Amino acid sequence: MQSWKKALKVRGAVVARAGVVALLASMLGWSVGGAQTALPGGVAASAVIAVDHGPNALVQQGKHYVILVSLDGFRWDYATKYKATHLLAMAKDGASAPEGMIPSYPSVTFPNHYTLVTGLYPEHHGIVAMDFLSEDHARHYRYSDSKTNGDGSWYGGTPLWVLAEQQGMRAACFFWPGSEAAIDGVRPSFYLHYDDKLPNPDRVDQVLAWLKLPEAQRPHFVTLYFADVDHAGHSFGPDAPETAAAVKSLDSMIARLRTGIAALHLPVDLVVVSDHGMIKTEGDWINLSTYADVSDPSQVHTAGSLLYPENEAEAQKLYSALKIANPDFKVYRRADVPKELHYNSNPREGDPVIVPTAPVAIRAAAPESGKPDHAPNAGSHGYDPAQFKEMRAIFFAEGPDVRAGIALKPFENVNVYPFIAEILGLEAPPVDGSANVLAPALKH
Ligand code: AMP
Ligand code: ZN
Ligand code: ZN
Repeated sequence: MQSWKKALKVRGAVVARAGVVALLASMLGWSVGGAQTALPGGVAASAVIAVDHGPNALVQQGKHYVILVSLDGFRWDYATKYKATHLLAMAKDGASAPEGMIPSYPSVTFPNHYTLVTGLYPEHHGIVAMDFLSEDHARHYRYSDSKTNGDGSWYGGTPLWVLAEQQGMRAACFFWPGSEAAIDGVRPSFYLHYDDKLPNPDRVDQVLAWLKLPEAQRPHFVTLYFADVDHAGHSFGPDAPETAAAVKSLDSMIARLRTGIAALHLPVDLVVVSDHGMIKTEGDWINLSTYADVSDPSQVHTAGSLLYPENEAEAQKLYSALKIANPDFKVYRRADVPKELHYNSNPREGDPVIVPTAPVAIRAAAPESGKPDHAPNAGSHGYDPAQFKEMRAIFFAEGPDVRAGIALKPFENVNVYPFIAEILGLEAPPVDGSANVLAPALKH
């Protein structure tokens, strides 16, 4: 590792920086600028994309490290319910929210992950659903389409990895919604294209490998993501043995990570969160087309259960038709959506807005005849967390900056961003969350 230091001295920062990344890449099997270099280092290492931002600024090198882990769909009570001993040990050694962390509405994956790293409610950062249309209805964001989820123009706010990079601190993402896009023109120093099948232990090991890099390259903010508990919850429901097994399996990944962190002898704070919980789904699909005509694209476009009428008359028509249609959902003109939901100001939300009042699966219409359809999942989420405690998520944090044995009252997930920015000593812009909320969990 000495040669890159020499390179810095001899050739000057700009030239050397490119050399450093190329050298490290060839040693560790990363791809640089998108081109794969197939070298040993495990499944994960060969998929890592390195972006050259130069070394950590000197002022950042002495800072602490934060690993932010998401266990998708891990409900607030799963750790106790399914005896996730390693997460429960984190609660003892650090801070936790025994009654859960409150997700933002809608309690789905992309909006909430992006809220966690921006401190903004979905309608303020712009990722208002998994699938939605642009303000002018001309463009369609789909979380599963790498063209849209990797397009920075959809994303508002300043995610933590961008905030870090902008202040000369290196960051890395082992998956996170938004991490494949250049946001404000900035990507994390290391990231990967999402691959659901990439083995979990390899993910943990790659994160630990990043923390073993020379100080100048070592990322201080790292994300890590696991989907197993969400998958099991959807397929089998929150009370199923398969979901219990997924909880146990991810708890063992937390153990692997904690052991690895202890061996690093670095000041690492570990923060484990989820995006939302899970509830048993009731009944069959509710198709809004049963109550209102949503079939004419010259009048209305749809995405999931979101409705985008072309004019005010059509919006009012849809609202009237859906108003008393079904007790399992409420309909509001967008401006009238209860303000506690923070879902009344962004045209991407559509108008009118449907808010489920029961754990049902709602969509604009069934697929056209002849096209495949499927029954709703056994478990689901997306509902108002104030109505359904089952939507609550988890929060566990431990490390040199976190006080031990702190039990936090339920708090909104917009407050995680200022908490992490504070630990990393980053200057953060004003957001919807406040540093005061999680201050009791911090040592200083
Ligand atoms: P949902 O249950 O609909 O809220 O979405 C969860 C799905 O998002 C899971 O199936 C994940 O596999 C998928 N997912 C999570 N992170 C990403 C990502 N960064 N890129 C693409 N898909 C993702
Ligand atoms: Zn999720
Ligand atoms: Zn899910």
